[in-house]
Amino acid sequence: MTQPAPQKTPQRATHAELLGMISRALIANGFAEQVAAPIARTIAACERDDVPSHGLLRLPGFVDAVRTGWADGVTLPSIVSHSASMLVMDAHNGFTHLALDQAKTQLADMARATGSAVLLIRNAHHFAALWPDIEEFAANGQIAFSCVTSRARVTAWNGGRPVFGTNASAFACPRAGGLPIVWDQAASVISQGDVLLASRERRKLPPGVAVDAQGLPTDDPDAVLKGGALQPFGGKKGASIAFMIEILASALSGSVFGFESPAKGTLPSKCGQFLMLIDAGRAGADMDSRVEHLVDAVTAAGSSRLPGSRRYAKRTQSLAHGIELTESAVHMLNQLCAADTASRP
Ligand code: NDP
Repeated sequence: MTQPAPQKTPQRATHAELLGMISRALIANGFAEQVAAPIARTIAACERDDVPSHGLLRLPGFVDAVRTGWADGVTLPSIVSHSASMLVMDAHNGFTHLALDQAKTQLADMARATGSAVLLIRNAHHFAALWPDIEEFAANGQIAFSCVTSRARVTAWNGGRPVFGTNASAFACPRAGGLPIVWDQAASVISQGDVLLASRERRKLPPGVAVDAQGLPTDDPDAVLKGGALQPFGGKKGASIAFMIEILASALSGSVFGFESPAKGTLPSKCGQFLMLIDAGRAGADMDSRVEHLVDAVTAAGSSRLPGSRRYAKRTQSLAHGIELTESAVHMLNQLCAADTASRP
């Protein structure tokens, strides 16, 4: 279904306006409305919270993935199996976002009933930020952990070639009377989004984060994009985390490993997602006050901010004053909204 392009695009948009523009852009480029909605929410949330590496920067990649037939923007996910504490879904080469959107209420109910619940999504694409997938669970009182695999871009233990994906993982912890504490990070020293941004802005990478196609250290983002690799964060320890994610999100879900994921330019990989919820109420401990006690200790020990707090501060500003859009972002959105899928081969 082709949607009309917006008549007037503000340089500063409200969150709702931006959400509408992103949805229209996706729908105009072959995404079913239902598929577009949760992806648009994720991209808009990143712009709202000032996470440029996974905001509008990623929209053309989503569109290209569907335009070229690499990913499916229409087929709905289905349930593969279901037990009291485990739900396995097949995204049928679509993005994980709709599968998660469809599963989230059931998953939270399962965790409430049994104490914990695991969602596995196979045969999927995920190249977005992970925190939007889990923050809501923690806001509703449940602990959430998720991880995703992606195409091999990261070296293993002292290796010179990519074997693991950049494999994001994210953890969200509820806070009584406050916004959840959420961390979300790549298994690589820097994310692929940061490499793309550095390439676009013609910036060098920091030392020690990447190797070129020959396995030699490089600060050139384009050398990473052309067959090089990123290093795991924390050396061997990050490699171990990346390995664990390959097991949880790929082996367990029935998806391909990072090194098995077929190459297709910068398009998203066919991969898997693991998401676990823990219902703290079932554990019988006074988690609320223990979390606050820990946060107080962390603060007293000199940490001036918690993971997630930068985003929350930016979110407050964006919701009050709107989200600033660069001219090129507005141009890109208008072009995508004006696309006509029917005229394309
Ligand atoms: P960052 O290094 O930017 O941040 C990692 C975490 O550290 C964030 O939760 C951040 O919180 C927190 N943090 C940063 N600075 C501080 C500080 N001074 N004090 C306390 N906490 C801090 O993330 P990455 O570059 O590793 O990853 C960026 C994004 O890339 C993630 O959203 C990830 O999901 C995504 N990604 C997606 C992949 C995929 O295949 N889908 C693969 C790899 C990465 P805050 O948000 O508040 O800044």
